[in-house]
Amino acid sequence: MSSFIKENIDEVRKRIENSAKKVGRNPDDILLLAVSKTIDVPKIKEAVACGLNSLGENRVQEIMEKYEPMGDGINWHLIGHLQTNKVKYIIDKVCLIHSVESIKLATEIDKKAEKSGVIMDILVEVNMAGEESKFGIAPSECESFIRELSKFKNIRVKGLMTVAPFTENPEDNRIYFRKLKEMLVDINSKNIDNINMCELSMGMTGDYEVAIEEGATIVRVGTGIFGERFYPNKNK
Ligand SMILES: *Cc1c(COP(=O)(O)O)cnc(C)c1O
Repeated sequence: MSSFIKENIDEVRKRIENSAKKVGRNPDDILLLAVSKTIDVPKIKEAVACGLNSLGENRVQEIMEKYEPMGDGINWHLIGHLQTNKVKYIIDKVCLIHSVESIKLATEIDKKAEKSGVIMDILVEVNMAGEESKFGIAPSECESFIRELSKFKNIRVKGLMTVAPFTENPEDNRIYFRKLKEMLVDINSKNIDNINMCELSMGMTGDYEVAIEEGATIVRVGTGIFGERFYPNKNK
C-alpha cells in the first residue's frame, strides 16, 4: 500500500482543521469529499481505508464502473455535468447531485426519483464568475430557479455549489465563495416553501482553505488526495 495517499489525507485534514478554527468553525461540520475521477479502485480503497467514504465523480460512466467494485458503505456524489438521459443510471446510486442547473434536468430527476421511490438531494450549481466554459446558472437567476425547484415533490434542494475559476492565488476566489454564502442566506430568508438550504459545496485542491473560511460545508478535493490525474486516451 503506497502511503502517499494517507499522508496527503492527513495533510488535507490538518489544513481543514486549521482553516475552520481560524474562523471559529467546527471542523466536523465540513465534509471532505474525495474526488476520485480517473482514479482506479485500489487507490480509492486506500482513501476509504483512511475514513473517506464520500466520493465525488463527474461522469456517470465512472460511477457505474466503480459502484460494484467499491462495495457498500460509499456515499457517491455526482459533481459534474449531468445529461438528462443519464439520470436513470444514477438515481438509486448517488446521495447528492451537485450540478443541477436546468429545469429540464430537474424535471427528469424528479420523475426518476418518484419512480424509484426516493427523494433526491440536490445542489444548485451557480456560475459565480460568469465563465463561458463553465456550467451553472447565473447568480441573478438563482432565486427564481430555486422557486421553480421548490415545486418538485421528489427533489430536496440542500444548497448551492460552485466551481470557482482556476487561479494561482486562492484569494482571488474568496469573493465568489463569500457571495455564494450570501446568496444562500438571502434565499433562505425568503421563506420559500420546502426551501431551507444548509450545504455550500465550494473549494477544490487549490482553494479549499479560503472556501472553508467563507463557509464551505463540502470541499471537493481530488489532486490534493490522489495526486495529479492522468487522462489516457482522452482529450480532457
Ligand atoms: C475534478 C473536480 C474537483 C477536484 O479538483 P482538484 O483540483 O483535483 O481538487 C472538484 N470539483 C469538480 C466539479 C471537479 O470536476
